[in-house]
Amino acid sequence: MYLKLNDKEIRHFKKRLMEERKKVTDELEWVEDNYIGSSQRDSSGEVSGQATHPADMGTDSIERDKAYLIGDTRGEALEDIDEALEKLGKDAFGMCESCGQAVAGERLEAAPYAKLCLKCKTEEERAGGASR
Ligand SMILES: [Zn+2]
Repeated sequence: MYLKLNDKEIRHFKKRLMEERKKVTDELEWVEDNYIGSSQRDSSGEVSGQATHPADMGTDSIERDKAYLIGDTRGEALEDIDEALEKLGKDAFGMCESCGQAVAGERLEAAPYAKLCLKCKTEEERAGGASR
């Protein structure tokens, strides 16, 4: 059993995936520019190792942790999107990786790179699937 897409649907999902990809890469670039990149640039001597506003030092490290977290989840999303693009037009696209059922239409529309159907996703979250 697999999801049969016609050419129009394939084009549609490809467009959606490219949009999502752009969004995610933009966010990743933003995070790198504002947090991760600036800390790496310190060693070049161009940018001071000190935070721009010493008064913000406390929040700065929190912000940086948050930035790394965003970078992490966006990195995973990017992998999922690339995988979905790879699968698009083939049998595996839009199929739940857990139960093998087709991912519901609205869910696929909202997240074309979804790897699990809503049921399996909910179960995973309930089972404490935070590790993934
Ligand atoms: Zn499922």
